[in-house]
Amino acid sequence: MELNSNIQFIKGVGEKKAKLFNSLGIFDVDSLIHFFPRKYEDWTKTAYVSELNDGDDAVIKATMITPIKESRIRRGLTLYKCRFSDGESVINVTIFNNKYLAQSLRVYEDYILFGKIERNFTAASMSSPKIERAESAIHIHPVYPAKDKLTSRAISKVMQTALESIGEIPETLTEEIRSRYNLITLDRAIRDIHFPKSEKDYIPARNRLIFEELLTLQLGLLKLKSSKRKETAIKISNDYTDEFTALLAFEMTRAQKRAIADCIMDMQGSFPMNRLIQGDVGSGKTAVAAGVIYTAVKNGYQCALMAPTEILATQHHKALCKMMESVGVKIVLLTGSTPAKEKREIKSRLLDGEIDLLIGTHAIIQNDVEFKSLALVITDEQHRFGVKQRAQLSKKGDAVHTLVMSATPIPRTLGLILYGDLDISILDELPPGRQEIRTDVVDSRYHERLYKFIRDAVDRGEQAYIVCPMVEENELEIKSAEELAQELSQSAFKGYNLGLLHGKMKPKDKETVMKAFAENDVQILIATTVVEVGIDVPNATVMVIENAERFGLSTLHQLRGRIGRGNKKSFCVLVSDSKSEASRERLLAMKQNSDGFKIAEIDLKTRGPGDFFGKRQHGLPDLKIADMVNDIDTLRLAQECANEILDRDYNLDLPENQPLLEQINRMFRELENS
Ligand code: ADP
Ligand code: MG
Repeated sequence: MELNSNIQFIKGVGEKKAKLFNSLGIFDVDSLIHFFPRKYEDWTKTAYVSELNDGDDAVIKATMITPIKESRIRRGLTLYKCRFSDGESVINVTIFNNKYLAQSLRVYEDYILFGKIERNFTAASMSSPKIERAESAIHIHPVYPAKDKLTSRAISKVMQTALESIGEIPETLTEEIRSRYNLITLDRAIRDIHFPKSEKDYIPARNRLIFEELLTLQLGLLKLKSSKRKETAIKISNDYTDEFTALLAFEMTRAQKRAIADCIMDMQGSFPMNRLIQGDVGSGKTAVAAGVIYTAVKNGYQCALMAPTEILATQHHKALCKMMESVGVKIVLLTGSTPAKEKREIKSRLLDGEIDLLIGTHAIIQNDVEFKSLALVITDEQHRFGVKQRAQLSKKGDAVHTLVMSATPIPRTLGLILYGDLDISILDELPPGRQEIRTDVVDSRYHERLYKFIRDAVDRGEQAYIVCPMVEENELEIKSAEELAQELSQSAFKGYNLGLLHGKMKPKDKETVMKAFAENDVQILIATTVVEVGIDVPNATVMVIENAERFGLSTLHQLRGRIGRGNKKSFCVLVSDSKSEASRERLLAMKQNSDGFKIAEIDLKTRGPGDFFGKRQHGLPDLKIADMVNDIDTLRLAQECANEILDRDYNLDLPENQPLLEQINRMFRELENS
């Protein structure tokens, strides 16, 4: 049996079972042995019945003391009963239907019983426990994520057969790396992760496999980055930042100036820029984008700026027009709601080079839009897009420069993984004059007071957001936003101008509402998390977030970033009736912290990266064994090791690195197909 043999040919599998394995993503022997147990049942820790309580999960070493009694209850249900003794107490055991197991049991032999124990005053019993001969029992049992008809036990059986019928599993890491990082061989690790004899076995096995997985991931990402480095870039010769600065109504922060300088230096070099600007909400990323665009345009090139939503694209269009239309930069907005005729016109003008900057949503620019001389593509709110989309993006022009901007602060080590293919500039400074936002956590008894607080703010001429939760944009929750708006317009906010904004509205309607809010025609905006991304209305000073416990901290931080953008004191109120200690603590963390990086770290610790990024958002390959939070130390080592390997063998051409290269291709191929 070879590693690439179809699992169908493993003894005891066959066509039907193979289909079940396929549904778990297992097709060949190699993917089978890389399907790891979720946890282990430790059968070494046996106990006596007298030490156990009713309902406990128990491992008991016991002798069978009566022969099996078979009773047929009805067609298809046969019970097998017998008694065991642990030396002190008797255990009544019932086995359902499993004739094979019942017939294999022998009186006066010792067994290990594993299962739930039921106890009352007179007797102890177990229903369908797992039973194994004491002397041959495997003491640590792997528990696989079972599915439908494929039980963990069945998987374990096939695993055992497979491991017995393959030879030594070929090594992927060099001896040097293994000894430096104290790693056991792959063969040992795979065998021990499935069938460890004790804890002493599976810990080194896990370490080795986690290291290898993170190393593969890191190498893959670094290669993604370096493959772009081969192309020759469009050279931007002159720096027009001084001219740009003069166009602004404000003085840029040092962080903003530094970020623009980083980008321009990149674009003057001989490789395409591939940079991430990471800056907390309100740090002024738009101005940075504008500065970089200005220099590219003045050098005679075209640029594209993409936003995740039409509202945001529209807002960028407005902001950038204000900054530089007066000096002749031609800026055009192209969205899903642009009429077909106008679209055609825009496309032809782009091809003629009459347009300097195209602003739109991601979808539009990916399609059939062609440029005459595109040099720079900028994506705003990058956390909405994954690694894969990023790769597609740069296919747009010949070696175009790419710049992505994100307001999702992520801890550094994770940044290296998620953005391992990018250079990073960080905006670690907010424009001056920003007021600290006051944040409070209240329960729903405060609603009346809260509404009065909002009325007072609106009466002063300020504006407010009320955010209702909408996790997956389902109908029910949209209704709840609509209902809330309806209700409030008849009660607490009678006579005020309310607006409603949610993700399922037509783009044009969304835009109308946002425009009305931006112009203070709408005073109170009731919205779902669509307002999370980038919207800038400095006159809004109050944000109420309903059912706040349902949001991740990073989302709350983004939402809160919609206020406190002007020079007036702003207030964020998190409403939650949750009694859970954990959610209260999380919400209080919002009250105590205003730094997005710190909040991200707390979020990461309390929720894990899966929830933190949302699967679709990060677009990384699936990890089978490593965990980006708990294995952060191993991640650091793997990053160090990856750099050393590439320093010595940039393209992974050396024979000793071929197994790793194959692993990388495998991991990233799965990503391509997903
Ligand atoms: P974000 O980084 O969240 O995208 P924006 O680019 O929307 O932030 O900027 C937030 C607000 O701050 C905007 O109203 C913008 O005009 C303003 N702004 C940006 N940079 C500065 C600055 N250096 N000084 C004063 N105001 C600034
Ligand atoms: Mg922004």
